[in-house]
Amino acid sequence: MEHIELSIVIPCYNEGKNVYLLYQRIKEAMRKIGKSYEIIYVDDGSHDDTLKYLKKVKNIAPNKTVIVKLRKNFGQTAALDAGFKQAKGKVFITMDGDLQNDPADIPKLLKKMATGYDVVSGWRHARRDPFGKKIFSKMANSLRKSLTKEKIHDSGCSLKAYKRECFEDLNLYGEMHRYIPAILMWKGYRIGEVKVKHYARKYGKTKYNSIRLFKGFMDLLVVKFWMQFSGRPMHLFGGLGAIVSFLGFIIGLYLVYLKIFYKAGIMNRPLLLLVILLLIIGVQFLMFGIFGDILIKTYYDQKPGSSYSIEKIM
Ligand code: UDP
Ligand code: MG
Repeated sequence: MEHIELSIVIPCYNEGKNVYLLYQRIKEAMRKIGKSYEIIYVDDGSHDDTLKYLKKVKNIAPNKTVIVKLRKNFGQTAALDAGFKQAKGKVFITMDGDLQNDPADIPKLLKKMATGYDVVSGWRHARRDPFGKKIFSKMANSLRKSLTKEKIHDSGCSLKAYKRECFEDLNLYGEMHRYIPAILMWKGYRIGEVKVKHYARKYGKTKYNSIRLFKGFMDLLVVKFWMQFSGRPMHLFGGLGAIVSFLGFIIGLYLVYLKIFYKAGIMNRPLLLLVILLLIIGVQFLMFGIFGDILIKTYYDQKPGSSYSIEKIM
């Protein structure tokens, strides 16, 4: 493998007006850093002239440019994954293709990484986005901080640096890119952050709206579940099943007591319906737990060694 130090991975979806300017900024920043690098642009099914400008960049810097063209728009997470799979560098840098991040911040990320971190995330402390977007993002960030152990300020910031090994056994899908640091922290990687610059989008449009908060929340639930229960889904579902069935059992006992000692009619009691409901739900949960455990067993059988992460073998 060639010895490339940095792979800069940039997902681009309809960023025709931005990619050439971005290339110039990266070139300038990299000239100052003086490390070997490649830039991997992932054209995520753009239908503007993004590809035309990417080819122009490729003509100017053929050895430093890789273009990965996806067949259609698969989303930012898939685009990042496709880029990582082509990357040859020891460190992966990610950033947006819309000029909102500043390549001149790359040395800051690397400096922080050198102090003992596997991942360094940018923090857009003076973020230049519309007010509504910043509010949604604040909410999403505090939700993530409360549900996962990963406490960086701004995990939605695309400008990040990762050691190559972070992605050796990590496939990304859905819209998981916002939770990469959380997932990596759970696997035992050390996560740091530095303040970075942020600019307003000048050309092109944002690809996200407020629906993303909802989708992001769903993704967060999956990440949270995976972190806590991927080893034993039965601990969650079995636990819930036991609690719910126990509740049903106790209420059922109470009804039986009324029937035997007070000769009360229980057939027309709504409580009886509740007992039946709780017992059925409880058994369902238990079954989910058992199915979950069977699924997880097949998953780990297919991917041996994926339930832990080895740092070094000495
Ligand atoms: N992007 C992508 N595929 C998508 C959506 C976005 O490759 O389906 C890219 C987009 O071109 C940009 C980055 O992901 O480089 C971030 O998107 P955007 O700037 O729209 O997000 P925002 O900054 O508004 O959160
Ligand atoms: Mg943007």
